[in-house]
Parts: sequence; structure tokens; C-alpha cells
Amino acid sequence: MYASTSQLPFNFESFEGRFVPGNSTAAPSDREGRWFLVQNQSIFLLEGRKGVDQIPLGQIPEAFEGRVESIVYFGNYLGTPCWAGSVVATLELPAGFVCERLAPGQIQLSDDLLSLCGLAQQATTWEATSWHCPRCGEPAVSIRGERGKRCLRCKFDHYPHLHPAVIVLIRDGDRILLTRKSFWSKGRYGLVAGFLDIGESLEAGVRREIHEEVGVQVRDIRYVGSQYWPFPSQIMIGFVATYAGGEIRVDHSELEDARWFSVHELPEIPGQHSIARFILDHYARPEEAGNPAIGQSGN
Ligand SMILES: [Zn+2]
Repeated sequence: MYASTSQLPFNFESFEGRFVPGNSTAAPSDREGRWFLVQNQSIFLLEGRKGVDQIPLGQIPEAFEGRVESIVYFGNYLGTPCWAGSVVATLELPAGFVCERLAPGQIQLSDDLLSLCGLAQQATTWEATSWHCPRCGEPAVSIRGERGKRCLRCKFDHYPHLHPAVIVLIRDGDRILLTRKSFWSKGRYGLVAGFLDIGESLEAGVRREIHEEVGVQVRDIRYVGSQYWPFPSQIMIGFVATYAGGEIRVDHSELEDARWFSVHELPEIPGQHSIARFILDHYARPEEAGNPAIGQSGN
């Protein structure tokens, strides 16, 4: 169990200095380093290795030459430059590699490796979607010293788009309200969550998502931490709230089910690496987590 959200994968603090982010203007010219080769939401890893040694080291592996687009330098891990690239969809698995889907909680990657793979995936996504100007459509180039892009024609600058989303645990004594999406694995439940809308405060976003998804009222909305989530570019902002009344009314356009669960009898819940699990571990089962904040209302 993670003691604080800063230790969660994808949050830079979790590296404790082992990773130093960098942008393309700081890229080494020799293109030597670790190669994070992404294909859709999967990554190619060297077979039979452990930890970060699963990532090819040196020049781009021969089997991938000419088959990788949107190559970008995104920082140094333990002093070694890190390169990310998007592998063309037609490339089949080369000998000596395995292909792992980047689904946190379902794969056995170390936290550092999982975080680096997530960053790589986001870096290639940004590279692949920012080569032209969103205003006039002309080619854009990297802004020196920054991660942004500048249009060669109209000089419009744009930067990676980060999408804030709120995620909230609704508590009522020893029961909690969980929701389920139809495409999740059978029997798995999670928290109410959704993207912030234009003009919304975080608290207003929490209230709206709860109202839309499950229809109940809450009070004492409290911030508990956040997690960066690079699939492709969310920041998950976590809250707990206290149930204040109303019957559950499930929004079936978004959810398959929503119901109360006893904290002593929970269904399958999200994986260890997610802030959803962090919130459940620390705020749903207070007597197990031993969290001193539990049971207090307000701040
Ligand atoms: Zn332009």
C-alpha cells in the first residue's frame, strides 16, 4: 500500500530523483539511450530481462529501424537518455521481444518502469498530434527549452493538453457507494469519476459527477491527493465525500451499475497502482489502514 499519493506511479515524486524530465531541445544528438517503443497502448520489452533492463539500450534496435514514428527524447533515467517512439501498427512482434499492454494494475512492471512507459506513451502521443498548428494547419516546430510547439506560419504556440478529472469516494458510515462500467472485468467496481467542465471548480465537478452518475447528495467534500495518469494525459484529483441523502439513480449511459457495499465485504476493486485504490485503501477501510484522518468530518 502506498503511504501517500506522491508515491503513486506516474507522479514525478515517485522517482525520488531517479528520473529528470527533458524536452526535445535538450535531446542528445547521438540518439543513444533507452528505447521506449510504444504501439497503441502497448510497449515492446526485451524478453527475459528484469526491471528497466527490459528497455533496449543503445541505438534503436535493428528490427525497429524505419518502423518508428514521432521519436522524441523525454528525459534521463539514472543518467541515461530516454527516447520514445510510436511503432507502426503493421510491425509484428520481433524475435527477442515481448509486447505488454500498459494497463496499470494488470501487469507486473516495477513502478519506475510503469511510470517511464506511461511518460513515453504520452510523449509520443503529443509528438504525433502536435506537428501541425491547431489554428491554421501549417507545420509546427518545437519551442526551444520547452515542450510546446510553434506554428511556422501564424506563430501560434500550443502545449501538451492536460485533462483534469475528479474521482471521489462516497462514504456513509461503514458502507461506500461504488460504480461499475460495462467494459470493466466482471464483478469489478470503482469510484465515481469524470472530467472537469469549462468554468467548474473541483468541488463543483465532484458534485456534478456524483449527481449525474448516481443521483445522491453529499457534504464535506475533502481533497485527498492526486495522480498523474498519462493515458493519454489526465490528472486525477481525488476526494472523499460524505453521503447526505437521496436514492441511487444510475446513469445507464455511463454506468452498468452503482450500489452500496459494506466496507467489510468489498467486490473486486481497481489495481494497486491507481489513485482509486489508494483512496479505497486509506479512506474506505479505516480500521485496516489505521489512517488517523478517518472518521473526521471537514478538514
Ligand atoms: Zn498556424
